[in-house]
Amino acid sequence: MTGPLVLCFGVALAAVAWRMFFLRRKLREVSGYAEKVSEALREKVRSAEEEKNRILAILESMAEGVAVIDPDQRITLVNPALTRALSFPKGQIERRYFWEIFRDSIVNEMIAKTLKEHVPVRREHSILLSDSVFQIRISPVFGGGHFLGAAAIFHDVTKLKELERVRSEFVANVSHELKTPLTSILGFVETLKEGAVENKADRDHFLGIIEGHSKKLTRLIEDLLSLSRLDTDRTELRKETCDLAEALERALAFFERPIRMKKLKIRTELSPRPFPVRADPSALGEILNNLLDNAIKYNVEGGEIRVKASGDGAWTSFEIQDTGIGISAGDLPRIFDRFYRADKSRSRQTGGTGLGLAIVKRIVERHSGRVEARSAPNQGSTFTVTLPQN
Ligand code: ADP
Repeated sequence: MTGPLVLCFGVALAAVAWRMFFLRRKLREVSGYAEKVSEALREKVRSAEEEKNRILAILESMAEGVAVIDPDQRITLVNPALTRALSFPKGQIERRYFWEIFRDSIVNEMIAKTLKEHVPVRREHSILLSDSVFQIRISPVFGGGHFLGAAAIFHDVTKLKELERVRSEFVANVSHELKTPLTSILGFVETLKEGAVENKADRDHFLGIIEGHSKKLTRLIEDLLSLSRLDTDRTELRKETCDLAEALERALAFFERPIRMKKLKIRTELSPRPFPVRADPSALGEILNNLLDNAIKYNVEGGEIRVKASGDGAWTSFEIQDTGIGISAGDLPRIFDRFYRADKSRSRQTGGTGLGLAIVKRIVERHSGRVEARSAPNQGSTFTVTLPQN
């Protein structure tokens, strides 16, 4: 009896051992598989984390303001540009209702529409409590066929709008400046045609006026072309070492007649001679011509014009000082604006275009220099130009 029992027991033991061996192998296989799955999951989480960080970094560096709102009307994300632009309240913004944060009925209506109808909306709008004008775009966000919320993008177009305003103001000014002399020319031509041409004195008088207006139009067009070249020409200036004393003598010779007519005294304090200055020679001539023209036009009869210069190797400054009518404190900050005239009647009477100082400022800016004016009514004016010497 013992033999078969032992045999039976042995077979059972062998079966158990075999089963255990088989199970252990399966277990090893399963744990290897689990290891692989968890590694794949870890990889997925890591890449999702990386993706999220990348998106956050992009959002943080964006100039446009961005907000994401979920279907429950709660903000889930706001980038720093938007927080700054709309001066959002300090503290937690995420998870607050969008209408608690955007206190602007138009913006709130736009977001509500996208959340309700899942459609994009866009418009230009000046947000309440902010001086800026924004181009706002609200887009529905979908993922896996589900509506996930709305993304609001705020693009600040204030500078663009300002540029558009300046441009259309400039066009209106140019049209006005061209129209006034042209209307006058046409009027006198009509008068001549109607019979004034028969009388020599009348004819000469009217032709003189027509000539004056035509010259003014030519000056205006020359100044406009000069400004347009300065604005659009992106090529480097042809800077070279010029002699300021010689450039000044040339400019003074050009104005010899009006200086003599107005009995003006000229005092120049330029030493050493030649006085070196790094500049584009024709641009330097244009600066001197415009500043001297004004120093003559707005001076009093028998007045004085003084030109001084100094330099320290890195910078050269020169100033043109007159003893003329001066400029009031209210006008002083605007005299470099295009078409701005402090003394309108005198400027027009002397054929001024209102563009001379704007041209000087653009030229000086293109030399990376600066121009300043000091003045007071009836105390004369001093214009100082400072140019880098590199
Ligand atoms: P304009 O052709 O009218 O002279 P500018 O651009 O040269 O135009 O000057 C702008 C305005 O600044 C002038 O209309 C004038 O009122 C004022 N201005 C410029 N220079 C002088 C000056 N030296 N003295 C007094 N006013 C000046």
